[in-house]
Amino acid sequence: MDREKENTLDQKEEKRSVGISRRNFFKASGIAAGVAALGLVTKSQPVYAGQESESAIVNFAVQEVDQSPYNLPPFANAENLKRYELGKNAFYSKELSMDKFGGNPWHIEAEKYIVKFIKEGVPGYSLMDNAFYDAAWASYKGTPLFSWEPLGVSNIKRAETVGKWEATPEQNNRYIKKVANEYGSGDTGVAVLNEQWFLSQDEKGKPYVFSTEHSKPTITEEAYYIPKTMNRVIVMLAPMNPNMLKYAPTTLSEATVGTEYSQMAESAGKMAEFIRGLGYNAIPMGNDASLSVPIAIDAGLGELGRHGLLVHPEYGSSVRISKVLTDLPIAPDKPISFGAAEFCRTCMKCAEACPSESISKDKDPSDKVACASNNPGMKKWYVNTWTCLNQWVENGGGCNICLSACPYNKPKTWIHDVVKGVSAKTTVFNSTFATLDDALGYGTHDKNPKEFWDSDKNVPKWW
Ligand code: SF4
Ligand code: SF4
Repeated sequence: MDREKENTLDQKEEKRSVGISRRNFFKASGIAAGVAALGLVTKSQPVYAGQESESAIVNFAVQEVDQSPYNLPPFANAENLKRYELGKNAFYSKELSMDKFGGNPWHIEAEKYIVKFIKEGVPGYSLMDNAFYDAAWASYKGTPLFSWEPLGVSNIKRAETVGKWEATPEQNNRYIKKVANEYGSGDTGVAVLNEQWFLSQDEKGKPYVFSTEHSKPTITEEAYYIPKTMNRVIVMLAPMNPNMLKYAPTTLSEATVGTEYSQMAESAGKMAEFIRGLGYNAIPMGNDASLSVPIAIDAGLGELGRHGLLVHPEYGSSVRISKVLTDLPIAPDKPISFGAAEFCRTCMKCAEACPSESISKDKDPSDKVACASNNPGMKKWYVNTWTCLNQWVENGGGCNICLSACPYNKPKTWIHDVVKGVSAKTTVFNSTFATLDDALGYGTHDKNPKEFWDSDKNVPKWW
């Protein structure tokens, strides 16, 4: 076939598909398969958070690094960030509320949209969708599982009688991961405490204080006191169901968010109570007390994505994060790198999918903040959380579109693993891989919510 004809066919195919020709697809697959054949498939190398993936390619792609990747190019200066005041967060911003929500809290305004959508019969927003979503949060909202006090489930006195649990820090690293796995964590890592990632104060202005005068975690009217001896953070992931995220931005898609928030409470609450039973202190945390993404990165569970969320080598962005701060001696895990930040420079799928244009489309990270809720001082892709939250309200309380769009959320198949393996080693094919993702129908959020209830089959889980 002559070159001109070949090019014309390619162009036709490009128009017919969603941006990639069959030729490019096979080219990319060929590249991937070629790299696999050259040794990635058989080579098992350093692993993340000290654990082996079932995929040798993912293990090969992931390299342990000495510095957390939010402080490596293309990012910079995270070490200069100040501790964050929760009151600045968009969820609590009075300025945003006055400007957009008539002075109401955001969720009151979102409820108006929910009722409207139910009455109009909008798919994915029925009374059943909303009841499904609400109940999914049952183990998170109002739970005692995040208590700083022992729950009374573990026998605390036993360790006082026989003495605290003793093992090497390396052994404890292995043991807590087995326990976390049983308590529902999809992946677990351990970080050395970095006080910078703890909130300076809660949404009402009560400070978090690291104290040498307290031997137990203590909450008073004035402050939260954290003993300085508590210097390890166990980080656990609750993977969401990416197939549910494909119904984004409906309330139906949000059910997996509620389910995994409940899982966060289960994992963190049980882990903290387990540690208390060994004779040590433990503070379980969801989105309170500390930031989640940088601690998860410190714990070797992923990289920082363009959308400001964690990108895990296997679960991508479809994860929720819980943490337990403790004084149990545990060897920390090393941070990891697998090319995600570099991939983000050319990918931009989350930014393109975002209906409120809240995610930066700049190729490179910068120190330009996007709204008053951002924490300035670092070079990264800042997300405008004000326009994002406003979009949530107009969607009836949530979104998930950027999560759903991320190409790192993939079923565990060899082709996806090979793509991850290749992009970890070279940036040359990154833009082809991002386009390939569209062609294969991943990263979309176009499932009809009606099919969810009408189908005889349950929505499959990828993991
Ligand atoms: S949650 Fe939705 S509105 Fe917010 S950044 Fe993601 S895509 Fe944009
Ligand atoms: S969608 Fe693309 S740009 Fe956005 S976080 Fe995922 S990999 Fe990065």
